Amino acid sequence: MVSSISRPVPQLQCESDFGIETLPLSQEASFGSWQREIPEAYWQLGSDELVTRVREARASLGDRAVILGHHYQREDIIQFADERGDSFMLAQYAAERPESEYIVFCGVHFMAEAADILSAAHQQVVLPNMEAGCSMADMAAPADVHVAWRELGDLFGSTEDLIPVTYMNSAASLKAFCGEHGGVVCTSSNAVKVLEWAFEQGKRVFFFPDQHLGRNTGHAMGIPLEEMTLWNWRLPAGNLGGAAPEQLERSRVILWQGHCSVHQRFTTTQIEEARERHPDVQIVVHPECRYDIVQAADAIGSTAYIANYVAEAPAGSVIGVGTEINLVSRLAKENPDKTVFCLDPVVCPCSTMYRVHPAYLAWVMESLAAGHVVNQIVVPEEVQAHARIALERMLALR
Ligand code: SF4
Repeated sequence: MVSSISRPVPQLQCESDFGIETLPLSQEASFGSWQREIPEAYWQLGSDELVTRVREARASLGDRAVILGHHYQREDIIQFADERGDSFMLAQYAAERPESEYIVFCGVHFMAEAADILSAAHQQVVLPNMEAGCSMADMAAPADVHVAWRELGDLFGSTEDLIPVTYMNSAASLKAFCGEHGGVVCTSSNAVKVLEWAFEQGKRVFFFPDQHLGRNTGHAMGIPLEEMTLWNWRLPAGNLGGAAPEQLERSRVILWQGHCSVHQRFTTTQIEEARERHPDVQIVVHPECRYDIVQAADAIGSTAYIANYVAEAPAGSVIGVGTEINLVSRLAKENPDKTVFCLDPVVCPCSTMYRVHPAYLAWVMESLAAGHVVNQIVVPEEVQAHARIALERMLALR
């Protein structure tokens, strides 16, 4: 069977379904809002020249540099990656390669921060485009988190029994907050185990920044939905995040109202349509999807889980996937004996991941080859120390 991307609404296809052709940076529609401090010499370079230049810089650096590519990066970046994976796996990989003094992280800002925290002091982490952030991570600003923490402490009489847990997809400052306040970090693969640990430490969990991962994990552990309360950080201070005091008192999990703009797009209608079109379809989705999507799916798991699920499915399987399109397209290509398609026919790439254009990679690699470090991500030592505590608590659970 030929690998295919199912496209039930052809007029609404996303260009990434067909593979994104590298345009010169100057022709990218969003270049105006990306990092502009890249020398003009890189603005007009076409795909072939960029490939040649990245390869040459890569070869001249040898083992001194490692290029990491997150699963959601586009193909024209992934082709250069020495390793690809999720954010935590990549940060660990870099830390296990002390011979690489430069870690070029093709992903988003919080991932490069995590790599800086977990890697050795002599390793320098570079993010090709400094504007590659994460909208979910940005939803949990330190000032809002501190306000919420104070209000909950006032309500409960203390925060002693409130354990902050943050998803890996968060800023280093939020990881540090968790480390400082008896909390921990989790990934989408170990969230149940981490929450079990958290409930051994206290009565309630304050889960950041992805409400969906928090809710889906709580539900998987048997916590009723009524005992999980959303905290709306957009409300002015003094509003208890929009929740009634008695509701918060009853809650076992308080969910920060953050979400991933990519995973929140999936709908149950898409799943119903996929089942109508392919009665034997298996639906696998990421836990950053909404609760109703997860309930309607056949399987749920991290990017690594999804990749394994597809790889291990028997030949001829039909699999509808609820995650970012670059990964789905790659899985379809790598599993030509199965039909693999994205549930959302109009889903586009994660727009911030997409900001890592090959011209930025060429610029940072050539700069490193010439002895200049550009776009280095440095997490302040005090933040690192506290964030490392939260990460180490998680690692001790594995
Ligand atoms: S896919 Fe979602 S969580 Fe991941 S970087 Fe993009 S916006 Fe952030």
